[in-house]
Amino acid sequence: EPRPSGGAEGTEATNEGDFGFDPAARLAERDQQGLRRTLQPVEHVAARSRMASDPGGEKPRYGAEQIVFAANNYLGLTQDERVVRAAREAAEAVGTGAGASRLVTGDTGLHRGLERDLADAKGTERALLFSSGYAANVGTIGALDPDVVFSDALNHASIIDGCRLSDAETVVYDHCDADSLAAAMADRSRSSTPDDSWLIVTDSVFSMDGDVAPLADICDVAERYGAWVMVDEAHATGLYDGGGIVQREGLSDRVHVQMGTLSKALASQGGYVAGSTALVEQLANAARSFVFSTGLTPPAVGAAREALRIAREEKRHEQLWDRVSRLRSGLEALGYDVLGTTQILPVVIGDRSDAVALAERLRERGIVAPAIRPPTVPEGTSRIRVSPMATHTEADIDRCLDAFEAAGQELDLL
Ligand code: PMP
Repeated sequence: EPRPSGGAEGTEATNEGDFGFDPAARLAERDQQGLRRTLQPVEHVAARSRMASDPGGEKPRYGAEQIVFAANNYLGLTQDERVVRAAREAAEAVGTGAGASRLVTGDTGLHRGLERDLADAKGTERALLFSSGYAANVGTIGALDPDVVFSDALNHASIIDGCRLSDAETVVYDHCDADSLAAAMADRSRSSTPDDSWLIVTDSVFSMDGDVAPLADICDVAERYGAWVMVDEAHATGLYDGGGIVQREGLSDRVHVQMGTLSKALASQGGYVAGSTALVEQLANAARSFVFSTGLTPPAVGAAREALRIAREEKRHEQLWDRVSRLRSGLEALGYDVLGTTQILPVVIGDRSDAVALAERLRERGIVAPAIRPPTVPEGTSRIRVSPMATHTEADIDRCLDAFEAAGQELDLL
């Protein structure tokens, strides 16, 4: 069928092709595969450990109050009044937007201050802010321009995209397996030339499995070949006395690139890379997501700086670990299979429809925790991802456990 010409009246339509897109057909394909996702108005979910049920909605579908176990706001700082005040003060002092790329006129003392604090927390000379963790990974791997990247099989999508954009040859090693990495490096070394550059990149805490990369072993292997190590601390930043797993393991001097995000425990938005002065200066020149993107918005910088101060000076993480161990041992006592060793508790259910049904039953009982299905996780390992926050009370944890018990029995999962 010819498309409307859209031209002036009397103009002959010339149909010489149909080179457009058909997003509706692509959505239909996703529908058919059961892979379509829809946005839900849940901004309040990410921010609070408690939420009113759908505040904008007509009639509450679930109970009046929901307890959220689905946020990355691990220290519960997004609504801390000091953090909120810092965001407001940054907007008042500097403005609501940076107005330009940092390299043009978007650089402020506020940005420099947070970068100094991050470098201090990460034990490095310098740090550099990006507009998101995603942008930090993509820009950094691109700017390093490695010949070969050795990448953990379960690394975050932003690392995978960074590898793709960088033109590097990417060698994927088995998840959290330093022996697999060593074997891959030994194999690849046979065809390498002396001026090749190699980058090993791994998440420190994996977001869907809640486990931790064997960073010291990875550094050992890296040092045999003089390769660089880059660690994504998105889910660890701020949780270990203000630092991440790299600090917990005492590896600040052996990890060349410490990347992280401000959007999880630091209650804000934006990403960072911490490392040597030379690295940071090079990234500020060559990371395209830094050079060609507006500086981080001042309120985000102000909020993250205050959240980092609180994470370093107060012991909120101790409350988080207390809630985590209460929840983990309670779930295991019920008979659930809980993966990982961190604040991310993946409760493996197996079948995807069981996981979805369980999430729905939990929701009916006032507990918000998402079902994670293929393709995000392998077939047969669908799970509920439960993440407690420092601001959950012991009673909140017990309510979560009660819901898991009742819903699991109803569905015959226990
Ligand atoms: N790395 C990891 C491991 C992540 O989980 C995420 C966020 N989901 C990112 C990077 C990206 O961070 P941001 O949300 O700040 O873009």
